[in-house]
Amino acid sequence: MEVERSLSPMWVRVFEEMTVIVVDVAWLNSRAEQSRAAGRGQTMKLFDAHCHLQDPRIFDKAPQLIAAAVDSGVVRFAVNGVSEKDWHLVKQISESYPCVIPCFGLHPWYVAERTPNWLNTLKQFFEATPSAAVGEIGLDKGSQGKKVDFTDQVNVFRQQLELAKELKRPASIHCVRAFGSAEMVPEFANLGAYFSFSGFLMSMKVHKAKRMLKMVPSERILLETDAPDALPKSELDSAHLVEGASLPEELQSIEISSAPFAGARDVLTFPKEALNHPQNIHKFLRPLFKP
Ligand SMILES: [Zn+2]
Repeated sequence: MEVERSLSPMWVRVFEEMTVIVVDVAWLNSRAEQSRAAGRGQTMKLFDAHCHLQDPRIFDKAPQLIAAAVDSGVVRFAVNGVSEKDWHLVKQISESYPCVIPCFGLHPWYVAERTPNWLNTLKQFFEATPSAAVGEIGLDKGSQGKKVDFTDQVNVFRQQLELAKELKRPASIHCVRAFGSAEMVPEFANLGAYFSFSGFLMSMKVHKAKRMLKMVPSERILLETDAPDALPKSELDSAHLVEGASLPEELQSIEISSAPFAGARDVLTFPKEALNHPQNIHKFLRPLFKP
């Protein structure tokens, strides 16, 4: 697609189908070592490159979620709006928390719901928020995205990319089954792209994850939680769940602690009602440290 060629910095988010992941384990280890040596606490400082703290399921809990994540070493959160309905909430959170980088964009799933004035509204948000990036935007041919006219998706995506270029803002891009294969990584990297990996790493076979990670230059790796979605598959006792989110009874009685990632045990698929806490970013970093 020609559109991508005209872009400046962008973040390409990586999903199941786009087999790309990154990480030079030695590099990460050395960073963690430096961080410990500098006495800045036991944990690495992390940037959650993509989450949705404005999501109606967790908006009222955002202050606690941010506080807990900051305590655990997460120093920045790129909070992505998804539709005209939530841009004001993203702005509101960013005004209360300097650690939040606001991102405004129309997500492909919500393209059909846009009003005739959506692009003007979006431009107004950028005018009023010079620190904001563009996102979440993109293309989706997955089970959810298939329901939205693809030509419409492309048009809306293109207009937002052009806006990002015009305003010189980075763009956070969602791509599911729409951009082609991992062979495109070098080309995207040359355009200035960063590749962001989520807790999906944890449900992959280790060798497959490492193969993916090797395809992306280590300095182009970002991590994201996509909270409150994308709860990483992990041992129940090592996960942080959003408190108060409805869980089936059999799970409510299990004590959630911060036990280290144990890796070898069977992974557990959480019920879809369980919500991902931004603090979980540490959980899916750990498997990457393993030799
Ligand atoms: Zn997202």
